[in-house]
Amino acid sequence: MRWLLSPGRRRNSGFWVPGTEYWVLLLIAVLPVAVRAEDKHISVYSPVAIYTLPILDRAGREYVGLLELLEPLGRVSSQSDGRHWRLRYNALDADFTAGKSQGKIHGRDFNFTAPFLIENSRGLVPLTSLSALLPRFLRTPINFREPARRLFIGDVAIQPSFRLDSANPPRLLLTFTAPVNPTISTEPGRLRMVFKRDPVVSPGSQSISFDNQVITHASYSESNGDAELDVSASEPLLATFSPDRRTITISPIASAAQAGTTANGPTQQNPTQPPTAANPAASGANTNTNSHRILAIVDPAHGGDERGAALSDTLAEKDVTLGFARLLRHELEIRGFAVTMLRDADTALTLDQRATATNLARAGIYISLHATSQGSGAHVYTSLLPVETPSKGIFHPWNAAQAPALPLSRIVSAAIVTELQKKDFASQSSSASLRPLNNVSMPAVAVELAPATNGLADLTSANYQQRAAAGIADAIASIRDRLGVQQ
Ligand SMILES: [Zn+2]
Repeated sequence: MRWLLSPGRRRNSGFWVPGTEYWVLLLIAVLPVAVRAEDKHISVYSPVAIYTLPILDRAGREYVGLLELLEPLGRVSSQSDGRHWRLRYNALDADFTAGKSQGKIHGRDFNFTAPFLIENSRGLVPLTSLSALLPRFLRTPINFREPARRLFIGDVAIQPSFRLDSANPPRLLLTFTAPVNPTISTEPGRLRMVFKRDPVVSPGSQSISFDNQVITHASYSESNGDAELDVSASEPLLATFSPDRRTITISPIASAAQAGTTANGPTQQNPTQPPTAANPAASGANTNTNSHRILAIVDPAHGGDERGAALSDTLAEKDVTLGFARLLRHELEIRGFAVTMLRDADTALTLDQRATATNLARAGIYISLHATSQGSGAHVYTSLLPVETPSKGIFHPWNAAQAPALPLSRIVSAAIVTELQKKDFASQSSSASLRPLNNVSMPAVAVELAPATNGLADLTSANYQQRAAAGIADAIASIRDRLGVQQ
């Protein structure tokens, strides 16, 4: 969890004055684009871990660090004297030489497709050698889809299948063999689902045509470690997830509204222009312009270089909080809330940026999400500040911005504990001196998810996270009347 304690030690402490933080929001909006441009990576899917690694371009070829590639899969160590690089993976030894294409694995020769490289004691291997190299180390079949930079180890692929219900209005049911968690964006006539961490593969053909005038066709593509499914239509589309996240139902927005559904699905998250608190509508419903919907800010803690707790050797808290946040977004949206996520990618944000974005958005509720391998169930935190009587004008000390909202924060916290207990989570609430809760001027809680009885498997289980997200959303919905727009 790694809370940043000690609110008093902030360098620019003083007062938060509305209107001085626009540069911060600009930064939030620009950052993901800058990261994206140089983000060339390989995705690795195995039964024990799903991870991405950066690709390095050397002399016109693509390379990846071999130790980093094997590390999540077994016991691995390396030694280098600058010229030779020795690797031990489980009981296998390998010996490679900088600048040479020939090396030895377990006493037998191996020929790379391009020279092996050593940089800062890291051994780098050409991507074009992986299909031949990895079976020498691993005992499971691999499938390396080189142009897309997606490496499947063992039987992990998730198959999609389509079924069009061509009633009027039509519905497209997209079913997967395991739960999925894509980023979904919509644009006129198209709905895009990008799978960054799911080993989704082609539905059989790259393009499927439907004999329908509204939902016309779907296509599959994969590149830079991601898979993408696009659905084209003559009308704007809406996607909703089943609770087990194995089925995505896609239908025209107009028909979904007519059918009286409140589900707004995981609405548009344009990758080049992620929703920010400056533009909360961007992540709200694309159908419902009801201005009375309460805005909830969901904040996946940590991100980017700031990884949070190391939940295992390969699992970072920042990745668990992001997946958990996406589930909570969906659960809140189907209960009629507008939702802004402070990050919807592996992006770094400071605690001040998080608080500033939240305060400017004038949300009804702020929920920060953490994860830990310690304890069990869920811990719900509110700020430890002393409650202060309101009406100090618009100037609240930055470090005590939470004080006026604290009574309501505690009500939210108690409601979450109650609902989580109903869903069999051992849960408790407590106060802690932690940021950015102290700096948020509206009801604010932090929820830290811990495993139940299955350890880390619980923390990464979509079902477990979904059950917790539904409990939190039930709690917030149960007191929605008290969560008006603040200020
Ligand atoms: Zn944390």
